[in-house]
Amino acid sequence: MPIYEYECDQCGESFEKMVRFSEADQIPACPECASTATHKKISKIFSLGSSDLGASSSYDSGCGSQGGFT
Ligand SMILES: [Zn+2]
Repeated sequence: MPIYEYECDQCGESFEKMVRFSEADQIPACPECASTATHKKISKIFSLGSSDLGASSSYDSGCGSQGGFT
């Protein structure tokens, strides 16, 4: 299930929401002010995928203390 990041136009709050395909067209209400004046930001999956590629190579040459695979 994709996770989308939204930003509230009313109060500027950023929040993430897991969206089913059947709910993809729905606009979630802001958890802060309950306004539905929110807009979708860049997909979380997209940013995770690209940063993952860069991170794995630097972990190999680095100390690896942040890898979490102990
Ligand atoms: Zn808000």
